[in-house]
Amino acid sequence: MAKRKAKKVTTTSDDIPLVGKAIDLAPDLQRILAPNASPMTGWGTNTYIIGDREVVIIDPGPDDTAHLAAILSALKGRHVSRILVTHSHIDHSGLASTLSGATSAPIAAFGDSRAGRSEVMSDLIARGLATGGEGVDHAFTPDQTLADGQIIDGSWGRVTAIHTPGHMANHMCFHWNEIIFTGDHVMGWASSVISPPDGDLTQFMLSCKKLAVIPCAGFLPAHGAPIETPAERLEWLLAHRYARESQILSRLEEGAATISELTDSLYCDLSPGLRAVAQRNVFAHAIDLTVRGEIVPKPDLRFDAKYQLFKAQDVE
Ligand SMILES: [Zn+2]
Repeated sequence: MAKRKAKKVTTTSDDIPLVGKAIDLAPDLQRILAPNASPMTGWGTNTYIIGDREVVIIDPGPDDTAHLAAILSALKGRHVSRILVTHSHIDHSGLASTLSGATSAPIAAFGDSRAGRSEVMSDLIARGLATGGEGVDHAFTPDQTLADGQIIDGSWGRVTAIHTPGHMANHMCFHWNEIIFTGDHVMGWASSVISPPDGDLTQFMLSCKKLAVIPCAGFLPAHGAPIETPAERLEWLLAHRYARESQILSRLEEGAATISELTDSLYCDLSPGLRAVAQRNVFAHAIDLTVRGEIVPKPDLRFDAKYQLFKAQDVE
């Protein structure tokens, strides 16, 4: 099968693209922006189409009639072989089943919204920790489940699925030619939200390191502009998390603290609307540090526990 090499992804600015218009980013590669801009989604969800006669769609986007019409119009009658979904947040998977009905293409993803959860998150859920309201698509059921490293060959070339849990446990990135479609794992406009129990910081850091060793020319995120310096972007993401971690550890040097107290000392001038998101983020770090044995929650691992440095506890 002839393998075409995608030329460098062309983008000249971060100007917000027109909603609903199919943009050619490279040969056999189009992007369509969905009409769902918001503080959580940046300029909205990017839907990608790869291939020529026969195509693969990555992230159908939100359940929106205008976006469905835009995708069908961009297809110009081309056959859709598969609908790939990076993860089951509704701004990515919401349109999947309708698009599948309209194109007869199967939906492929790592699994449903519970798939890929780590032991610590499964345990927190079993003990009653609820999802933080990030728009989990609980009804999402792919027709085909993809394993880490699974290859999908066709006239579009070769797509390799990479399991990248962290933002969500069932998150996958898709490697095609010299590009990696990074979903919400690496975004073009902000760092990813990691909100337990669906978000797992320990997994997120491992997934960043997993992507870092795959040679590629650029990332195409589900939100925001193409990332042309992928290695630097991953380094920045890791550094950003390590910086937050050391802030938490320094605060705990002064004494034990709850998630709420840690949030107050780490974030200045938080608007009330962002406080819950910030607390979830701090909790993600607290779980990660607990799993790694750096800190100890009392009485046990939970949102309202008191956390202290491991070395500070009395060893009996
Ligand atoms: Zn997401």
